Amino acid sequence: MKNLKGKRVVITGGASGIGLATAVRFYEEGSELCIVDMPTEEETELKARFPERMTYIQADVSTQDGVDKIQNWINGGVDVFINNAGITRDATMAKMTDEQWDQVLAVNLTAVYKLSKIAAIKMKEQGGGAILQASSVVAHYGNFGQSNYVATKAAVIGLTKTMAKEYGKYGVRINSVAPGFIGTPMVRSMPEKVVKMMEDKVPLKRLGEPDEIAAIYAFLASDDAKYITGTCINVDGGIVLG
Ligand code: NAP
Repeated sequence: MKNLKGKRVVITGGASGIGLATAVRFYEEGSELCIVDMPTEEETELKARFPERMTYIQADVSTQDGVDKIQNWINGGVDVFINNAGITRDATMAKMTDEQWDQVLAVNLTAVYKLSKIAAIKMKEQGGGAILQASSVVAHYGNFGQSNYVATKAAVIGLTKTMAKEYGKYGVRINSVAPGFIGTPMVRSMPEKVVKMMEDKVPLKRLGEPDEIAAIYAFLASDDAKYITGTCINVDGGIVLG
């Protein structure tokens, strides 16, 4: 990919799943990583995997303390910011508690808004940058039992379009990526029957791999995509076709 070497890249939720695959991809491209994730035991493992060019910030993106820690790193410069951290708290509308609603909005939307804003202001000052948001294909067609999650993933697409209009003139590009069924460890650990059912629904007849999402983040962050802003790329094996 063009021009990712030496770039300062933040990946929230970068210690597992798609975020980890994205960290691996940008590391291979020669970028300087800032991996943000919930407090865990993973720091040693990450340091072994990324022996140089990596800062690990243990932070909850939905807290002001977490946002402040990330802002502190951003103050030193940021070229790419990937809002990847996301959670689900599923229940049908009738059974959903306000707490489930609030938790999902706090991580998947409010944190995305706050961190995108901080990153965009810094990028404007620097003369450019790329912000990438994790949406989902369910933003396009809804999903039973996921009103909170779907609302956030659709909102992220709207936020992306609006930010693209506000920040385009400063050389800051904002795009989102909508993964379909991706074979993260959580999905792979589901009963074989359920995984097979998911695969059958996809025109390409298989789950996606985390590195196939990472590849699109790398493309959108790179100069190969320098005329792309405000869009949402579906990476879903064709599932949105219905
Ligand atoms: P994942 O494996 O659960 O990884 C998400 C990471 O984010 C985890 O390490 C998690 O930590 C961390 N995280 C959660 N809440 C956080 C917070 N408040 N602050 C900081 N870090 C936090 O998820 P994934 O499947 O790779 O998904 C990544 C993104 O893609 C999400 O936004 C998701 O909605 C989106 N997506 C995924 C799929 C899919 O099929 N996998 C499909 C469509 C969209 P803990 O493990 O400690 O919670």
